[in-house]
Amino acid sequence: MTTLKSYLCGRWQAGGGEPAVLVNPATAQALAEVRSDGLDRAAALAHAREAGGPALRTLGFARRAELLDRMSKVLHERRDELLEIAIQNGGNTRSDAKFDVDGATSTLAAYARLGAALGDGQVLPDGEGTQLGRSPRFFGRHLLAPRHGVAVQINAFNFPAWGFAEKAACALLAGVPLLCKPATSTCLLAVRMFEILVEHGELPEGSIQLLSGAAGDLLDHLGPQDLLAFTGSADTGLELRGRRNLLQHSVRVNIEADSLNAAVLAPSFEEETYDLFLQDVVRELTQKAGQKCTAIRRILVPDDAVERVRADLLERLSQYVVGDPARPDVRVGPLATRRQLEDARAGLRRLSECATIVLGGPDPVEDLPEANRAGYFLRPTLLIAKDSRRADAVHQHEVFGPVATLLPYDGTAAGAGELVSRGHGCLVSSAYGDDRRWMREIVEALLPWNGRIYLGSAQAAGVAPGPGVALPDLVHGGPGRAGGGQELGGLRGLDFYMQRTAVQGFKGLLDRLSS
Ligand code: NAP
Repeated sequence: MTTLKSYLCGRWQAGGGEPAVLVNPATAQALAEVRSDGLDRAAALAHAREAGGPALRTLGFARRAELLDRMSKVLHERRDELLEIAIQNGGNTRSDAKFDVDGATSTLAAYARLGAALGDGQVLPDGEGTQLGRSPRFFGRHLLAPRHGVAVQINAFNFPAWGFAEKAACALLAGVPLLCKPATSTCLLAVRMFEILVEHGELPEGSIQLLSGAAGDLLDHLGPQDLLAFTGSADTGLELRGRRNLLQHSVRVNIEADSLNAAVLAPSFEEETYDLFLQDVVRELTQKAGQKCTAIRRILVPDDAVERVRADLLERLSQYVVGDPARPDVRVGPLATRRQLEDARAGLRRLSECATIVLGGPDPVEDLPEANRAGYFLRPTLLIAKDSRRADAVHQHEVFGPVATLLPYDGTAAGAGELVSRGHGCLVSSAYGDDRRWMREIVEALLPWNGRIYLGSAQAAGVAPGPGVALPDLVHGGPGRAGGGQELGGLRGLDFYMQRTAVQGFKGLLDRLSS
C-alpha cells in the first residue's frame, strides 16, 4: 500500500507510529496509509520562518503573483489526474471533483491577477492617510507589511484542493510561508498537489510545507508572528481557539466552521425565480453529497407554498442516482468516511424529533452493486419541520450530508429573518423573490447574521452560480457559529497575513515608504 509522506524542511519524510488508513468511501477499500509520529514540526516551522519567509518577502508582490500563476497552471496541467484522486479518495463525482480542483486553480489565478497590479514593493498602503495637527507636513497613515511568521493552515476533509489553495493564495501573495495540514481522511489529493508544486512550482525553499497526518504538537510551537487558519467543525475550532500558547502569544486565528445556511423563498415570485430556487436547493443538497460548508440546510417557505415546494423538490430529488461516483450516471456519491456516515445518521435521528422525513432517511441505500455495499452512502434526505419556531435541532445541528429541512414561515421578512437568526450565524443565506421592497427588507434582516447574501430573482436566473460558490473577490466566512472568520474578499484576504501599523512623520517621507 502507498505510504504518504510529509514535505517538511525541504524533503519528503514519512513518520512513524500507528498508520491512519485512507479509503475509497464508495467501496471502503484501502488506498494509502499515513504515519506522522516523530516528524519534527518545530523544525518545519523554524524552516519556514528562516528560509521561506525571507525568500518570499524579497520577491515583492508582483513576483509572488507570478508564482501563484505558475502554481495554478502546473496544477491545471494535471487536472485529470487530480480529478481522479478526488473521485477515488473523496467520494466525489467528476462534477464534484471539478468544483474542488477547478475552484483551487481558479482562486490561485484570481489572486495572481490581483497581485500583478500591486507592483514590486514590500508594503501596501492602507487608505490615504491623514494630516495630524496644524501643519500639513506632519502626517499619519497605515501600512501593511507581511508578518515574519508561518501561516499554518488546518483544513477540513471536504475541500482538500480548494481549502489549501484559497488560503495559500492569500498567504503567499502577502509574503508569508505556509504549512498545510490537510484532513487526514482525504489528504491523498493535497499530497499529490504538493508533489506537483514541489517539482514544478518553482517556489522558494521553505515557502510551502505539508504535514500529512495528525497535527501532533504543531500548534504548541506557534509564536507571536505566526497565524493559524483553521477550517473544520465548530468543536475542533473551539478547542484550538482556547489553546494557551495561542492566547499567550496573540497568535492570529481565523476559524471557518459549521453553518446552517438558509434559503428563503419570498411570498411572491416570478416563475423563473421559483425555478432558480428549486435548482439551487437541489444542487446544494446533492453536490459533494451535501458535504459543503455552504450547503443549504434550512429551506424557508411561506406557509401557503409549502405543499408546492415539497412536491417539486421530491420530484426533482428522486431522480438523483446515489452510488459509486466513478459511474457517470451517479449524481450523489458517498460521504467521505464511515465516521461521517455514522454522525449524519445520528444527526438525522436528532432532526427527526422535531421534523418529519419526507424523502430519504438514515436507512442503508438499497440496490447497490456488490462492490459498493460497504460504501458510506446516504440518500438525499428532505425533512419538514413540525413547528419551525420550536425546531431547535434544525436550527442548531449541522448534519453534514445530503440533508435539508423545509421550514414553513409566515411570509414576512421579519419572520424569516428571525428564523434564520436561530442558526446563530451563517456563511451564506439566499433569498428568492422579485418584490424589491420585500427583498430589501429580507436583506436588512439577514445582514447581521451572514457573511454573504445571495439574491435570486428573475433577472439573475441563468447567470447566478448558486449560493454554494465561494468566490475569490467576495469574503468567505460568517459570524457566530460559522466561526467568526473571514477569508478571501479580494485584497481583503491579505489582511490576515499582514501587520497593519500606523506610521507618523513627515509626509514626504511617508509617501516614499509605500511607493
Ligand atoms: P474536523 O474534524 O474539525 O477536522 C478539521 C481539521 O482539524 C482536520 O484537518 C483535522 O485533522 C484537524 N484537527 C482535528 N482535531 C485537531 C486538533 N486537536 N488539533 C489540530 N488539528 C485538529 O472537521 P472535518 O470533519 O474535517 O470537517 C467538517 C466540518 O468542517 C463541517 O462541520 C463543515 O461545516 C466544516 N467546514 C467549514 C468550512 C468553512 O469554510 N466554514 C469549509 C469546509 C468545512 P485530522 O483529519 O487529522 O483529524
